[in-house]
Amino acid sequence: MAHDFSGKVAFVTGAAQGIGKEIAITLAKGGAAVAAVDLKEDSLAGTVEAINLAGGKAIAIGCDVSKMDQVEAAVQKTVDELGGIHILVNNAGIIRDNLLFKMTEEDWDMVMAVHLRGAFNTCKVATKYMTEQKYGKIVNLSSRSALGNRGQANYSAAKAGIIGFTSTLALELGKFNINVNAVAPGYIETPMTDSTAARVGVDKEDFKKAAASATPLGRVGQPIDIANVVAFFASDESGFVTGQTLHVNGGR
Ligand code: NAP
Repeated sequence: MAHDFSGKVAFVTGAAQGIGKEIAITLAKGGAAVAAVDLKEDSLAGTVEAINLAGGKAIAIGCDVSKMDQVEAAVQKTVDELGGIHILVNNAGIIRDNLLFKMTEEDWDMVMAVHLRGAFNTCKVATKYMTEQKYGKIVNLSSRSALGNRGQANYSAAKAGIIGFTSTLALELGKFNINVNAVAPGYIETPMTDSTAARVGVDKEDFKKAAASATPLGRVGQPIDIANVVAFFASDESGFVTGQTLHVNGGR
């Protein structure tokens, strides 16, 4: 059964490509009006076009989620142009991988700023509206790397932080009828995993094959595999689920 998001407004960060783009399209197909948010407004043209072609409604907003003033402006624009904010998906992300001894302070700070401060910023602003309307669905993107991944001390710490952040917000916001959950993807084929292959000097098809063969379900994930789970958490069908992190990784 497809989830029904009609009458709802969704704010999806990192929506220009990869997983975020697919989430934006999936929520829009379910009837949500979508604020597609990414660093550069121009980069969102493909997402908005795909949504329009599917008969949905979307606006593009350029915003660096690590900057509170930009998040405030983006949420304000969403409310002004789409009439509210009911679903928030914290998907924007970056990697700055390196072994600890080579990792710079800038690489550490930047990863923390986008993943953790970014989610803090959007949640703080969006929940002003959600608490008032006594309705909200927040879905945060964690990662299998939260369990540890060589070369990703910054990223795995941030993604583990997202799990604690998610369960804490669930405790604080439950009384306002706001559900807060996280999805922890395994290997999903996107520009992010392509850049990881390039960094370790492996052909991207070989990199993908190796990941698939280490996965019980025998394949790597696609953005739609994550978008479907995000849609479940964003829907009223998961109304009694909060504070959870669901690993979506083919059983790896
Ligand atoms: P992606 O293809 O790199 O897309 C991420 C998007 O976020 C990009 O459009 C990027 O813009 C944008 N972004 C980066 N910094 C931002 C900022 N400060 N403000 C707003 N937008 C920003 O990544 P993906 O693979 O789809 O990953 C999406 C999410 O899933 C991330 O949180 C990632 O950590 C998580 N995840 C991915 C995988 C995977 O295997 N792909 C696995 C586990 C978790 P630019 O391109 O301009 O930087």
